[in-house]
Amino acid sequence: MRLLSLVLWAIAVAATLAPVLGRRRGAAPRRVLPRDELVKDPVCQTYVVQSRAIRRTMDGEPRYFCSLACAERFAARS
Ligand SMILES: [Zn+2]
Repeated sequence: MRLLSLVLWAIAVAATLAPVLGRRRGAAPRRVLPRDELVKDPVCQTYVVQSRAIRRTMDGEPRYFCSLACAERFAARS
């Protein structure tokens, strides 16, 4: 009887820890370096490296521009 309660306790502990460990393990492979990713400037249609682009959030979506002038032109347009 004592062994059974020990087993049940172990299962309860495993069930509590499993989602935490699973989430932590799942987050690790998503470490993609975004620095070489190319993004398109919607104003002049130029592809810019994301880390060097001017980032603006518009309508809840991130937009990337090659320069401040393009970002301002896009903001004025919409
Ligand atoms: Zn541009």
